[in-house]
Amino acid sequence: MTISHHPTDETLMRYAAGTLAAGPAIVVGAHLAACPVCHARVRGFEALGGAILAQTEPTQLSPSALSDVLARIDAEEGIPQPPRREQKPAEIDGVRLPDSLRGCGIGRWRWIGPGMRMSRIGVPHDPDATVIMLRVGPGRALPDHGHVGTEFTYIVSGSFTDRFGRFLPGDLAEMDEDVEHQPVVDPGEECICIAALEGKMRFNSLIGRLIQPIVGL
Ligand SMILES: [Zn+2]
Repeated sequence: MTISHHPTDETLMRYAAGTLAAGPAIVVGAHLAACPVCHARVRGFEALGGAILAQTEPTQLSPSALSDVLARIDAEEGIPQPPRREQKPAEIDGVRLPDSLRGCGIGRWRWIGPGMRMSRIGVPHDPDATVIMLRVGPGRALPDHGHVGTEFTYIVSGSFTDRFGRFLPGDLAEMDEDVEHQPVVDPGEECICIAALEGKMRFNSLIGRLIQPIVGL
């Protein structure tokens, strides 16, 4: 797995601190299981958070505290591998789904446009979370959209390209609210991805406006 698109450090810190909303945490969690680099950074942020909590009196952290912790972890353990799980992985039509979706309800596929299907993912501990799985045919454009709040997309299989580059399985696309982009699935293979929003999506295209009531935004 060649991973070239990662979450921002701010997102990884929020994941480590447990302040990232449940939906985005599932999508970022899928990336962490595939990306030893980000997995190690989250461990570092967790260690740093623990070190801060352990202080009896508030003191200023040295500017190099974070890099010191990361260097120590790398020196002690190398880059840690994601934990192996014994349970049988969840699959959909032969495609393995990320472990972070375990326990979530996966809705039936709905046709939302030519070559495009969507399934709503139910998050048990946050019923209001907006998480969807998209399945888009080769060469098809995903709905043109902007969003209010950050959008997180994890590529499960296949690939797509937008003006930020090519996104392959394991990659995470994190798009700020002022970004408008239109991913197009690469030729040859359909693309399955999971997406979560911290905020509401604004669809620009006709198909997007048709999706809106289904997604429930
Ligand atoms: Zn990463």
